[in-house]
Amino acid sequence: MQYRRLGRAGLKVSELSFGSWVTYGNQVDTKAAIECMAAAWDAGVNFFDNAEVYAAGESERIMGEALKKLGWPRQRYIVSTKFYWGIADGPNEKNTLNRKYLTQAIDGSLKRLQLDFVDLVYCHRPDPETPIEETVWAMHDMIRQGKALYWGTSEWSASEIMAAWQIAERHHLAKPVVEQPQYHLFHRRRVESEYRHLYHDIGMGLTTWSPLASGLLTGKYRNGVPKDSRGALPRMAFLLDGLTDKARNGVVQTLEGVAKELGCTLPQLAIAWCAKNPHVSSVITGASRPEQVKENLKAIDVLPRLTPMLMDRILEIVAPHDDR
Ligand code: NDP
Repeated sequence: MQYRRLGRAGLKVSELSFGSWVTYGNQVDTKAAIECMAAAWDAGVNFFDNAEVYAAGESERIMGEALKKLGWPRQRYIVSTKFYWGIADGPNEKNTLNRKYLTQAIDGSLKRLQLDFVDLVYCHRPDPETPIEETVWAMHDMIRQGKALYWGTSEWSASEIMAAWQIAERHHLAKPVVEQPQYHLFHRRRVESEYRHLYHDIGMGLTTWSPLASGLLTGKYRNGVPKDSRGALPRMAFLLDGLTDKARNGVVQTLEGVAKELGCTLPQLAIAWCAKNPHVSSVITGASRPEQVKENLKAIDVLPRLTPMLMDRILEIVAPHDDR
């Protein structure tokens, strides 16, 4: 495993990392979380992604328990959380990035995670009802208080990120250093086009999500929805059209052939493809069981096999069906 700088920041994250969306608190209990996190750690992962809203706080609680039981030195791992949706219903507790919510939400997360600070904290979505300046000051204060070390955004537009960065620059505040966008073979536009100038202009790093498009890029949805898969979870029904899309599953079948030629599995190929992008600091992988973690993290070995010629060939296969 290699460790890449988070954009221009000094923090080094493993090029593949591990996240807990959907799984912790829904599919995965503390015991399974420990097994998955231990498998990731053994493969060299140092970054574990989380969010307040995942399983309404339960995901943070389970990760906190797991970290306590695993007993790794705090210096060696990076934990993140994210704020926006909230886990309560009040007008200042959900769908906001206002100062009041952010100031109180971090305390709840730290308590559930049983940590004194998180390494990274993301503004999980932009909030059109709070001035960006108010959010930037609140994030700066969170860092000044030692409750978080770095901050960033998730699924913000390039202009929103630039506005936040410029406010921080103008007032000498802690700047956003990372964005967390969706990025996989079928979803490339934002990372490859919209954000392009931000890598150079402000040194923004990327920790990307859903490298397997929620499982589509494993090939498991080619013949319907497996009973034990994310696609079969009732609250994930909104993903079903995408997971069972005929044209994309046709592409998946062709990609399976490419993976076979390379001597790897399709998930490994899809994850390695994301990590091949030099602007990506870390590809956040997800798994519902330890065997998937072990398989997926071997994607690292596939990276040197992705020659420019092969990358071109893969793009030719996906291009008619991606979002560009
Ligand atoms: P993926 O697209 O890689 O999907 C992971 C899921 O695919 C697993 O939970 C599992 O689901 C299935 N899977 C994984 N590996 C295999 C395999 N080898 N064989 C078969 N099935 C497999 O990633 P996620 O969507 O989980 O995203 C990764 C992380 O990114 C999240 O945990 C979270 O931390 C972060 N994220 C951030 C978002 C944001 O808005 N900032 C949004 C979404 C995610 P199953 O077995 O149940 O089918």
